[in-house]
Amino acid sequence: MIHTAVLKKEVLEYLDPKQNESFVDCTVGEGGHAEEILAKNGPEGKVLGIDLDPHQISASQWLHVQFKDRIVLVNDSYTNLSEILERKEFKPVNGVLLDLGMSSAQLEGTQKGFSFKIDQGLDMRYNDEMNYLTAEKIVNDWPEEEIERVIREYGEEKFSKKIAANIVEKRKQGRIKTTFQLIEIIKEATPGAYHRGKIHYATRTFQALRIAVNDELENIKRVLPQAVSALAPEGRLVVISFHSLEDRIVKNFLAEESKKKSLKILTKKPIAASREEVAKNLRARSAKLRAAIKI
Ligand code: SAH
Repeated sequence: MIHTAVLKKEVLEYLDPKQNESFVDCTVGEGGHAEEILAKNGPEGKVLGIDLDPHQISASQWLHVQFKDRIVLVNDSYTNLSEILERKEFKPVNGVLLDLGMSSAQLEGTQKGFSFKIDQGLDMRYNDEMNYLTAEKIVNDWPEEEIERVIREYGEEKFSKKIAANIVEKRKQGRIKTTFQLIEIIKEATPGAYHRGKIHYATRTFQALRIAVNDELENIKRVLPQAVSALAPEGRLVVISFHSLEDRIVKNFLAEESKKKSLKILTKKPIAASREEVAKNLRARSAKLRAAIKI
C-alpha cells in the first residue's frame, strides 16, 4: 500500500513555510510532508528529514531527485534531535513537524509483524540496530502483570487481564513466535461479540506492543522540549498524533509551554481530517493535529 501523508493542507497552513526558510521533519517516512514543504520553501530553503527506520529513509531518497541538496536525510531517532541539528549544523529552524506512529507501508510492507493481517515473526521494531526489545520478548519473557499493564495502558484494551493471562498460559507450551499465534491467543481470551466489532479484536493489543517495543510515548516526551529549544523565534511546531495517549502528552506539553510563555498555541482544539480525507485514507481517521508558535 502506498502511504499518503495525512492532513497535508493543514500541515502547510500551520507550518506556513516561506521562501528560504528551513524545516525539520522528524518523521520523514516516505517524504509526503517533506515534499509539500520543499515545494514552498525554495529556492534555497531546506528540509532535514529524520526517520528511525532505515527502510523509510530509503523510501524518501526520491526527494533528492527533485530537490537535490535542499533535502537532508538522517537515519536516527528524533529523540536525538538536538545532537542531530548540531552535527548537521542545521540552523535556523523555522518549523518542526512530527507525524507520529507508523506508516501504511510499514504496516503491510515490512517483515516486522506490525500487521495482524499477515503471518510474520513478532518483532515490531522500527530499527533493529538501535533497539533490542521485540514484541516476542515481551510476550514470552515479561511477567504477566507487566504484559497486562502494557495492553491496558498502551492499548486501552478492556480485556487486558484475560489476554495477558492467556498469553502466559499458552507460552508454557512453547514460545509464541508469530502474529497469527498471538491473534489466536487474543481471540480465545475475548468474547465472540468482540470479534465482530468495528475494529479488529487484535488492534489494541498490537498497538500496545508496538508502543512498548519502540518506547513511543517516552520518545514523544523526549523530543518535544528539544523541538521547542531548536525553534527560531516565530518558528512553528506541528504535531500529528494518532491515539489519545499521544495526544494527551502533546496537549499537556503545549499547555505548560504556553504557561511559561515559550509557545503560543495556535490550535485551541485539535484539528481532525475532513470527511473526504478519511474516506480516502484510513490512517487519517484518528489523526489529530496540534500546532504552536515559538515566542
Ligand atoms: N510524514 C510521513 C509519514 C510518517 S509515518 C510521510 O509523509 O510519508 C511515521 C514515521 O515515523 C515512520 O516512518 C516511522 O519509522 C517514524 N518513526 C517512529 N518513531 C521514530 C523515532 N523515534 N524517530 C524517528 N522516526 C520515527
